Amino acid sequence: MNLSEKIGKIEESVTLAITAKAGKLKEEGKDIIGFGAGEPDFNTPENIISKAILAMEEGKTKYTPASGILPLKKALAEKFKNDNELNYKPSQIIISTGGKQSLNNALSAILNPGDEVLIPSPYWVSYPELVKLSDGIPVLVETKADSFYKITPEILEKYVSPKTKAIIINSPSNPTGSVYNRQELEGIAEFAKRHDLIIISDEMYEKLIYDGAQHVSIASLSEDAFERTITVNGVSKAYAMTGWRIGYCAAANDKIVKMMSNLQSHTTSNPSSISQYAALEAVSGDQTKVLEMKEEFGKRKDLIMKLTDDIPGVSYIKPEGAFYLMINVSSCFGKEYNGRKIENSMDFADVLLEDKLVAVVPGEAFGDPEFVRLSYATSRKNIEEGLKRFKELIMELG
Ligand code: PLP
Repeated sequence: MNLSEKIGKIEESVTLAITAKAGKLKEEGKDIIGFGAGEPDFNTPENIISKAILAMEEGKTKYTPASGILPLKKALAEKFKNDNELNYKPSQIIISTGGKQSLNNALSAILNPGDEVLIPSPYWVSYPELVKLSDGIPVLVETKADSFYKITPEILEKYVSPKTKAIIINSPSNPTGSVYNRQELEGIAEFAKRHDLIIISDEMYEKLIYDGAQHVSIASLSEDAFERTITVNGVSKAYAMTGWRIGYCAAANDKIVKMMSNLQSHTTSNPSSISQYAALEAVSGDQTKVLEMKEEFGKRKDLIMKLTDDIPGVSYIKPEGAFYLMINVSSCFGKEYNGRKIENSMDFADVLLEDKLVAVVPGEAFGDPEFVRLSYATSRKNIEEGLKRFKELIMELG
């Protein structure tokens, strides 16, 4: 049968594939330590859960406006003002079923067939596929570990073409943990202005930032940057709400907002009404839990770095945000383990999972085959045990 060529070209998410494989081994009773999942291991804070229950009891279980409820848009406008120095009106904010839908709405609203989108690499798994889904062409911009995986205007100039329509910035970054400072973002904003590009700024991890690093929203840098940016965020990571599926985005360009809203109204309609009331409590209620979780992630980051320092032949770049560590395992390539040759990070991740029962995500998923990504959104006990097994494998490989 002649099915969709476009969808046929979309690749399976490697992250989900490895999580599924680890899940299967776990079901078989194996003692798996999982560093794969990109989600906090904490439950959603109590105050948020209570507000969701209340919403259900009060009958807030019906359709809402397709782009979200006004009280949440107002709360998000306040949040943008207080946290990000951004003056979006509630009418310029769209609430979606997760940050992923916000990104999909944004790309669908701006791209025509053949439009190119600059994506710094290593990148979050879904960016290239989402661009392809909107008939665009992902252009991967290579970055280097020794420059903290950051793009600069000089690097970007090599990749820009008359077809370039947009650039995706993700700070703090999944998978690298890099955080762009104000000056670096100013350079990127000027580059975008010079080439008249739309900026999609994915700020999903803004609250998870460590060691004095500061989150800056690129849209806040100038009137021009504000006009050309679509700011994407969500409650999934900061509030341990991945399953509730609430993300949001904001744009100063009313035409883009209208197009995203129209698209959403015909695809999913409103995000879950109950989840929206929960998100309202998340962004406007007590923030103590967010700070506690962030503090705990910070401690885990220090622990995982300390344990990795103790493993010979591997290296990493210190993350400043999010909850991932990218470990360079290229020194293992060409070596054999139990008769299996390790040629790349996919092979390394396979051996680590099957023989040491530790799940990590191979860097191929993010465009860098020398690395594996470990999410440290798991207990310190798991981190200790997982890194012990990781070290064992490296030592046995010799
Ligand atoms: N952006 C980045 C960088 C992410 O890591 C994720 C989730 O993994 C998302 C967006 C999507 O988040 P959500 O779960 O809200 O769809």
